[in-house]
Parts: sequence; C-alpha cells; structure tokens
Amino acid sequence: ASVLVIGSGGREHALSWKLAQNPKVSQVFVAPGNAGCEQGKVSVVAKKDLDTDDVKSLVDFCTAQQVSLIVVGPEVPLANGLVDKINAACPSIACFGPTQAAAMLETSKAFSKNFMHQHNLPTARYETFTDAEKACHHIKNAPYEALVVKASGLAAGKGVIVASSREEACEAAADMLTNKTFGSASEEIVVEELLSGEEVSALCFSDGHVIRSMPIAQDHKRLLEDDQGPNTGGMGAFAPHPLISNEMKSEIESILQKTVDCMRECGNIYKGVLYAGFMLTSDGPKLLEFNCRFGDPETQAIMPLLKSNLYDICVACANGTLAQTPIEWHCDRTACGFVLVSEGYPSDYAKGKVITEIPPPTDYAIVFHAGTASVDNQLVTNGGRVLCATAVGSNLSAAREGAQRIAGQISFEGKYFRGDIGRQVANRAQS
Ligand code: ATP
Repeated sequence: ASVLVIGSGGREHALSWKLAQNPKVSQVFVAPGNAGCEQGKVSVVAKKDLDTDDVKSLVDFCTAQQVSLIVVGPEVPLANGLVDKINAACPSIACFGPTQAAAMLETSKAFSKNFMHQHNLPTARYETFTDAEKACHHIKNAPYEALVVKASGLAAGKGVIVASSREEACEAAADMLTNKTFGSASEEIVVEELLSGEEVSALCFSDGHVIRSMPIAQDHKRLLEDDQGPNTGGMGAFAPHPLISNEMKSEIESILQKTVDCMRECGNIYKGVLYAGFMLTSDGPKLLEFNCRFGDPETQAIMPLLKSNLYDICVACANGTLAQTPIEWHCDRTACGFVLVSEGYPSDYAKGKVITEIPPPTDYAIVFHAGTASVDNQLVTNGGRVLCATAVGSNLSAAREGAQRIAGQISFEGKYFRGDIGRQVANRAQS
C-alpha cells in the first residue's frame, strides 16, 4: 500500500517514519515534507508539484500512485474541509482526520466550550462575546478573580492571554474584538476562569464510535527553562506521564469517549485523532481545549511507543472498524523529545544554517526533522523549530538523558533547546 501524509513538521516526520515500518506499506509520500522525510520508503513530494489545497491534483496524484490512505497532519487543511472534499471526490481512499464540521471542536473555541457545557464535560467556567463592552462588563463582575481571554478561532497558539488583572483582561478583550488583533479569529472571544494544576495532553484514536487512548503526554510550551519566556509551538514532550493515577486515566478516557459519543449523537461523527488538553485540578481533570489532530511535539514522543501498525489503525478509524483493531503499546518504555530551535524563535530567526552531527537512528533514539531543507546536498535550517531529538528509555530519566545527549551533540549556528524537558516530573517520580 502507498500512503500520503500532508504536512511538513516533526509530527509528520514521526508519522511517516511509523507508517513506513509496516511491511504492507511500500511507499509513504509526505507533502510538502522536510529534509528528514527523504529516507528509505518515505519520499517528499514538494508542494509545488502537489498543491494540497487543490483537491483534483491531490486525487490525481493518489490515483496515479495507488495511494490508499491519506493522513492529514495540521489543523488548517482540516479546518478548510480537506477530508470532506477527498471523501466526496474519491471515496475509495481512506482519509484520516475529522470533517470540517467535526474539526470545529478545535477551530471554534466558542463552539467547543458550548459543546462541553451542553454535555456536562468538566471545564473552566466561561462566557463568549462578540461585543467588547459586554465582555468588559462581564470581566469586571465575573465571580472568579483570575481570567483567561481567548480568540475563538485558530491563532496558531497565540490567541490566548492569561491576564494578571481584570484591567489587563479587559484590554485583551477590547484588543481582540475592537482592534481585531487576530483578524476573523477574534471576532468572537471566550473569557474563562483560570485553572491551576498540571497540564497534560490526552490523545486518542477515534472511528466515530470506539476510542483508543494513547499514552498521556506532557508538552512544554514556554521557550525558556522552568516554564519562563514566551509561548512557542512546543519545546519538547514526553510520554507516558509517570504520575497519573489509574483513576485519573479512566476519568480522562471516559471524557474522551463521551465527547465522541455526544458528537455522533449530534449528527457530527468524529473520526481521526481527538486531542484534549487537560488541567489536572484538585477537583479532577478539566478540559482546556480540544485539538482535532496529532500534537506536535507530543507525536514525536508517542509514535516510538506504538507497537501496532499505524497504517491499520488509521484505515480502521476512517472506515469505522476500530473495534476490530487491537492497539498495543510498549508499556515498559518512556519516550522524550527535545526540540531544537533557531536563535530568535518564536520571533524572527535566520534560515540556511548548516546542520551537522545528526546521529543515525537506532532502536532507542531518532532525530525527527521539522524546519530543515536540503540545499546543494547540505542539510540546513529552514524554520523556527528545526529538529526533535527523541530517545526511548525504561523510564523518564533514562529517556531524558538520551534525548539531551543527542540534542547536545547536534550542531548548527544559533541552536537552542530547553534542557529541562521532563526534568521536574522525573524528579518527582524518583522522590
Ligand atoms: P495551542 O494551539 O497552542 O494548544 P490554543 O491557542 O488552542 O493553544 P489553549 O490550549 O486553549 O489555546 O490555551 C493555550 C494555553 O493557555 C494552554 O495550554 C494553557 O497552558 C493556558 N490556558 C488556557 N486556558 C487556561 C485556563 N482556563 N486556565 C489556565 N491556563 C489556561
């Protein structure tokens, strides 16, 4: 079988790497991919050759290459209805990911918060607004002191302001609604209560009926160690989180299952990956948000733990046969990924810096590429997040050490990474 993965990040490299391990899979195409995807059975299809926004050329490519499965990595093509369009144009290709309507769990925070509220899914108290004056009136009188203001639409992780006072929350609301800081993404906003606790990423596969949980992961969004500095796309992740009780895990799983069930009962069948961001509060797990796709960098830590064939799972999700598809994980392993970024990220950064000293993959370590390119046969940086040094160990400390060692060994001008990915949890797990 041949597979097409859409996207260009570390997530898509990890997915294509895993898909290619299946003996049934003869070829994996990644569009537009990155320099790391060009290995073994995996090859890159440059965006200029294959416009993934143009469904006809996409379907023609898939027909010519006998592609039987398309895996959509990022949220933007899902938000634009790529799965619906492929299903309509060529129903014989299994397309992994939710429809445009189901993806609203991520693409509209107003929809997703209202959905949580309507179905009694635990989440922070909130209100939605389109009018700045009404928002400010609410902010001044809200029964909770600490507030978070969020643009409802997609804002690449930047549309969330954790306010330090009610005045700051009002300013943020007015900025979003009146000054349209995030364009149409902030025509509507969500104002909610600040939750405290530990944040985790809970992902599951769904075929619309059945869900299968992945190991619970933790991402590190801030640029600097000890969770300081600006937010980023993600500086590193590990899985599984060693300190989640079985009781907490089953509560999380039942929230994910209920979400998929309620979506289906509302006539909005949810297939693909459902990724819930949870705050583990003293009151139990509470939903921060839903995402409608794999997380980046969580996927780089989760894929090395998957024992079963990713190809079979994705096809089962698309075809509604997940109940008959058992999924096995390496339960005795932990994986940890350190993201290497360009100097200046998440603001402006230079591209084209030569990358050297990437160790070849082993059974216990692999460097996933994100913002890389191959120019004149040389590997160079081509983005803010450049690589994800990922290692597997018998526990979090061992995985951390492995990842840190490789991250230190790789070289490019301006390289930066956080050395503390998973450190706090590893220390707590040992004490
Ligand atoms: P991303 O796409 O990067 O996951 P996003 O823009 O979709 O982010 P959220 O996940 O809703 O936005 O919020 C981003 C971050 O802000 C969360 O990961 C969390 O750390 C923090 N946050 C959001 N809502 C709350 C809340 N109610 N209480 C505490 N922290 C919150």
